[in-house]
Amino acid sequence: MNSIVGTIGNAAPLVADAAPMVDPFGRAVTYLRVSVTDRCDFRCTYCMAENMTFLPKKDLLTLEELDRLCSAFIAKGVRKIRLTGGEPLVRKNIMHLVRQLGRHLGSNTGSGLEELTLTTNGSQLARHAEELYDCGVRRINVSLDTLDPDKFRKVTRWGDFGKVMEGIDAAQKAGLKIKLNAVALKDFNETEMPDMLRFAHGRGMDLTVIETMPMGEIEEDRTDQYLPLSELRADLERQFTFTDIDYQTGGPARYVTVAETGGRLGFITPLTHNFCESCNRVRLTCTGTLYMCLGQNDAADLRAALRATEDDGLLHAAIDEAITRKPKGHDFIIDRTHKRPAVARHMSVTGG
Ligand code: SAM
Ligand code: SF4
Repeated sequence: MNSIVGTIGNAAPLVADAAPMVDPFGRAVTYLRVSVTDRCDFRCTYCMAENMTFLPKKDLLTLEELDRLCSAFIAKGVRKIRLTGGEPLVRKNIMHLVRQLGRHLGSNTGSGLEELTLTTNGSQLARHAEELYDCGVRRINVSLDTLDPDKFRKVTRWGDFGKVMEGIDAAQKAGLKIKLNAVALKDFNETEMPDMLRFAHGRGMDLTVIETMPMGEIEEDRTDQYLPLSELRADLERQFTFTDIDYQTGGPARYVTVAETGGRLGFITPLTHNFCESCNRVRLTCTGTLYMCLGQNDAADLRAALRATEDDGLLHAAIDEAITRKPKGHDFIIDRTHKRPAVARHMSVTGG
């Protein structure tokens, strides 16, 4: 049970005892991912079609509404918030939200938010890195699937590799710890992985590799892109010595240390290994829809509860009700016969 002492809202930090919310399978829900926009300045081939139709701007929650929703989750025991998208740093005035959420960080607020972080493609990082640090962000994930500028342009369609590198430089200079995320893509980057590992670890960054998930219609065939990480790992182990470790970042990755580079490598394997049993996450979209599972369609409309009244009681009740519907796991399969995505919405809607 959560009991709230004091008020939440735009002004004051929360005071809450905030025992975590627990789902029907006994998993504590302590991690909220927020897709602050479905828009992006890239069009990664595994994520989006080139001609995406985005939500009309009028359908988006305001930054104040997103803040109120996040604050309600913090009051209900959420300890970690990740801003994602789409590309979170292309949302207008996003730093306003980051600063507002940053007020919940730190032991003196009593609210218990332990980490505020984001996942970004890095394109806008150079101009925001210092302010992110100033708002209390300490670690970020940067998505990078290749170190080859031409291949980078190919996979992102619109991305500029040099800008992302500038972003990484600026973030490290500002004191942000970076984890690189690379989606493992068959016949695209598997042979580059040893270099990516050396690059990441050489710069003091962890690297996590991710299996492609069948989400949303794209122009390419997902079965052509899919590379099981078990294969990638076996390949890498011909060159590197891995030791499994218990390291946890609150996310779904399983980590190894790499003897030759001294760094950490994470594997996110939604398809070859069921990562659901320890799931502690729910996902909020920029329209206020809460998805209790990345790989299922069931969702709760928190916008209605948010807009019905200024009093947060209804919102808290709607969140509680949603958590009772958190499913045991996803049903991702790569549908080789019909080549349909398992989930119709794109990753950019719910956030990766
Ligand atoms: N735009 C930001 C970025 O690229 O980091 C944040 C949003 S993006 C949807 C978050 C993560 O999801 C990225 O690391 C991206 O590579 C990953 N992603 C996108 N579509 C995916 C898919 N179909 N399967 C697996 N990962 C995917
Ligand atoms: Fe944009 Fe991130 Fe999707 Fe690439 S993966 S298109 S950067 S949202």
